[in-house]
Amino acid sequence: MGNHYDRMIAIRREASDISSAAALLSWDQETLMPKKGAPARGRQLATLSGLAHTRFTSPEMGEAIRGAEGEGPVGPALVNLREIRRSYQRLIRVPVELVREMAETEAEAKERWREARANNDFPRFSPLLHRSIELRKRYAEAVGYEHEPYDALLDEYEPGMTAARVSQIFDDLRAQLLPVVARIRASRTPPRTDFLSRHYPRADQERLSRRVLSLMHFDFEAGRMDISSHPFTTSFTPNDVRLTTRYDESYFPTAFFGTMHEGGHALYDQGLPVEHEGTPLGEPVSLGIHESQSRLWENLVGRSRPFWKHFFPAVKQAFPEALADVGEEEFYRGVNVVKPSLIRIEADEVHYSLHIMLRFEIERDLFRGAISADDTPRIWRQRMKEYIGIEPPTDSDGVLQDIHWAMGIFGYFPTYALGNLYAAQFMNAAGRDLPDLEGRVARGDLSTLLEWLRRKIHARGMTWQAEDLVREVTGAPLDASHFVAYLEHKYGEIYES
Ligand code: ZN
Repeated sequence: MGNHYDRMIAIRREASDISSAAALLSWDQETLMPKKGAPARGRQLATLSGLAHTRFTSPEMGEAIRGAEGEGPVGPALVNLREIRRSYQRLIRVPVELVREMAETEAEAKERWREARANNDFPRFSPLLHRSIELRKRYAEAVGYEHEPYDALLDEYEPGMTAARVSQIFDDLRAQLLPVVARIRASRTPPRTDFLSRHYPRADQERLSRRVLSLMHFDFEAGRMDISSHPFTTSFTPNDVRLTTRYDESYFPTAFFGTMHEGGHALYDQGLPVEHEGTPLGEPVSLGIHESQSRLWENLVGRSRPFWKHFFPAVKQAFPEALADVGEEEFYRGVNVVKPSLIRIEADEVHYSLHIMLRFEIERDLFRGAISADDTPRIWRQRMKEYIGIEPPTDSDGVLQDIHWAMGIFGYFPTYALGNLYAAQFMNAAGRDLPDLEGRVARGDLSTLLEWLRRKIHARGMTWQAEDLVREVTGAPLDASHFVAYLEHKYGEIYES
């Protein structure tokens, strides 16, 4: 490559090193840091993110990008140029004052949101939500978009995705999903779940979590597992990927499936090509594709019958008392119980996407100016009733349940549901490509599947944007019917519906 291209890559790597240092400080804050360290840590993080921003948006970078364009890069270099230019242009368009104003408002909004949620007092949060939306509208105008302001927000998390496309996918999904939900609700054979809430000693849960990560081929020499109140995965290089989990001694699924979920994220990060570290070719495609990996391991593998055929004896051995009167089939059905819930993060895989749809619809209407912040509690209750069949008795269990809006994060929610759809479509393709995949999983062989994911998805970095990747890997555009067919088959059997 030419000099300008090399310069561009060097600056990108410096910025990425600074961001990695910040990510390590955040990891420490969530896992080990004593409480009193918080104010200084906040300052350190602000300093580092400022440095990374300054380095990446420097005039030198602008020159390097323009110069690299003139060098006519091809192949992988073109991917790096495309993505670096995309984020550079996005960042330089946002005025520094606006960034500062957003940060200040969001700090205040987070505090207000906490109070409002604790006291079921939406009006206390409402003025901050108004302000936050106004600021994000200005942000969208600054960044630019083709059709509507919400596109600019979505694009940050799911590059290339638009509100119109999400809306089309979700409408299609909802139409197919609601009849499945109705059949499950009408079923008279709900699984037994009493044993999930028995006593599961923490030390045994931890051993089991490590065991399942090993079975998934998570590389403990290139990663760690620790504890935090909100599980997450962070990565500084494919050779240092850290996930966290949390233990609930009186509810089995929390830690186990949480670990498999984060483990799926971590496998993606460990599988990124280390030779492209610090550049887009060595980075994940989008949040939606990241979520597809976590959900694929958590649900399509971890909540599958073949998986439990192999792993049930290990769980039974770990918890002989809690599971004394439980068989493999009962266990499999129990961890797949479907029940409407008010809270998104507690939702089962059948209801989950419906929780996301109502958030997406509200967000899109807010940014189109069709509704205002004050309308959100009412619309929330309406849609919950319509989609999930239950109405939150309080706003704390309704519109105030997620922290995202208080943090100025709009356009993020859709990536969770897209993750489910990508995952099902990928898994179908894996089933076509890999003979006897279910049999392999039932024998405890998860490496064949992982190797396929590595080759088809992880190793490619940001070569393709999400929808192109789906087409490349599965031979077809994103289509909700793969996910629905998976649910119909699995839950039709469990619920005899
Ligand atoms: Zn996730």
